[in-house]
Amino acid sequence: MHCADPVDAVVTGAGGFIGGHLTRALLAEGKTVRAVDRKPLDEWYQAHPDAHNVVADLSLAENCAKSVEGGAAEVYHLAADMGGMGFIENNKAACMLSVLPSTHMLLAARDAEVDRFFYASSACVYAADKQTEAAVLPLREEDAYPAMPEDGYGWEKLFTERMARHFREDYGLATRIARYHNIYGPHGTWDGGREKAPAAACRKVAVAALTGAREIEIWGDGEQTRSFTYIEDCVTGTVRLTRSDTVEPLNVGSDELVSINRLYAIVADIAGVDLTYRHIPGPLGVRGRNSDNTRIVKELSWAPSTPLQRGLEATYRWVYDQVKACLN
Ligand code: NAD
Repeated sequence: MHCADPVDAVVTGAGGFIGGHLTRALLAEGKTVRAVDRKPLDEWYQAHPDAHNVVADLSLAENCAKSVEGGAAEVYHLAADMGGMGFIENNKAACMLSVLPSTHMLLAARDAEVDRFFYASSACVYAADKQTEAAVLPLREEDAYPAMPEDGYGWEKLFTERMARHFREDYGLATRIARYHNIYGPHGTWDGGREKAPAAACRKVAVAALTGAREIEIWGDGEQTRSFTYIEDCVTGTVRLTRSDTVEPLNVGSDELVSINRLYAIVADIAGVDLTYRHIPGPLGVRGRNSDNTRIVKELSWAPSTPLQRGLEATYRWVYDQVKACLN
């Protein structure tokens, strides 16, 4: 990996879902971007030819140092072992190992004296006892403590948030932290076991639409609730937060609460198919989760606002095309 030239932005996890969209948005601003991921380039969800694309495992300190070599105005650290409930409940050790890229990227950014360091945290940091009801109270940033996050994945996110805070306080590294709430959209993971609920719903409904099958499975009773954040809002919030003066972690999430049953009903309606649902045991996560956006509105004068219906229309169209290509 040869990276010595300075760039405007470094994006880690750039071969993944959010990283691919964020790289596109930064390039559209005219920024020079170094995009880093450990996956082979032909497996990146979006590999933008105008970026300097680098394949490297950021678990290794020397690769982190090289990724910020020459300096950068903004580092967006998104690389993590990541997936929906089906993945994170069964891969807790792998999720916690994301502490390696996080630690080495913080050290590398400090040593290269980058101007801003963004860290992609998660609503999974929130204490489980605040999320026991489907009609859940929206989560405020202070609800992360006393700490009892999602086991494995959530603990790593909370630990790295804390580490980023102390790098800011002790070393003067300007860290910014978003707690993403269920990001969805085109060019994301839609099969293979790591997909999240919106992509899984779009895939199952697309398969039904294309094959004529009319029964699909939903984990649990489907009355568990979530809010889902469209990718364009996620990217806008990430860039605004990174360039803001907000040093405390901030929710970047929609506050449009829906049950999983309702999510499937919206997708089926978009697809124009009548379906029956079979509720089966499966990994469920917390009973309810929503984002309280009081603080983001106060800090950034902005909050995610894409209606779920609109975001799902675009997502369904894209997933439908992927499923169709696989079935052909
Ligand atoms: P993703 O899985 O699509 O992308 C993550 C990318 O990181 C992958 O391409 C992976 O190959 C890469 N990566 C993992 N370990 C690496 C390593 N050691 N070195 C280099 N690259 C490595 O996930 P995403 O949905 O784009 O999520 C991006 C970030 O946002 C992650 O940190 C995730 O935890 C966080 N987040 C996402 C959501 C969501 O709903 N998608 C919610 C909360 C937080």
